[in-house]
Amino acid sequence: MFLFNDNVLTLDDIIEENGILEDNLKIIPTKLGTCKCIYGPMFSSKTTDLIAESEKLSIAMKNHLIISNIKDKKRSFTRINKSSDVFIDDGSTYCEGYITTFSGTKRKCILLNNLMILNILIIKTYFEYVIIDEGHLYEEGSLSKIVLNLIQHGINVYISGLLLSSDLEMFEEMTFINAISDEKIEKKAVCSNCNNMKATLNYKKEKNKQKIQIGSDNIYISVCRLCYFILNNKKYT
Ligand SMILES: [Zn+2]
Repeated sequence: MFLFNDNVLTLDDIIEENGILEDNLKIIPTKLGTCKCIYGPMFSSKTTDLIAESEKLSIAMKNHLIISNIKDKKRSFTRINKSSDVFIDDGSTYCEGYITTFSGTKRKCILLNNLMILNILIIKTYFEYVIIDEGHLYEEGSLSKIVLNLIQHGINVYISGLLLSSDLEMFEEMTFINAISDEKIEKKAVCSNCNNMKATLNYKKEKNKQKIQIGSDNIYISVCRLCYFILNNKKYT
């Protein structure tokens, strides 16, 4: 019988057990971790894949952290309670919440606004895997450094995210991580305009060029390349 969320750690679990030890960064790793990158447009089941990986890790009794971005409030900002907010030394905030698929499947996670906190939580052998959802939301220059650091400390990383914005601007950190990943999984969605199953892009219904705008199907649809150009031509002419 599967136990929901077994072996999914919270920061409290780790801090309680180990304290926040800057010295952890000085640990010389004895093995390297690996990285699996799951990329593709919205509505292509990327988070579903991460949840499936988490469930498998739990069955295998592998300790793992699940991280999502605090910006993605609509899908994941279901706080367990207000008091679960904790301020860490560098001013980062975290709270507990859920990663949630568009169909409603969810899994407990930690919501962070800054991944740098992971640098001080790299604790030898305490957790073996870190799962990061919506990696493209961490574009402040820390994502690739953190992922490399995790790998160099023997921790395996599963990360999902977009490589391109709805204006075809590259999410550079996610693109870098995809390039260095040991395993790359490209997901495709169903085109909301013509129903073919090869949608690789996102079309934004609103007329603005904001690179990161949190939203669901109220703002975005996934489309194939042909429909992307047809719809954008209509929108701007
Ligand atoms: Zn199409």
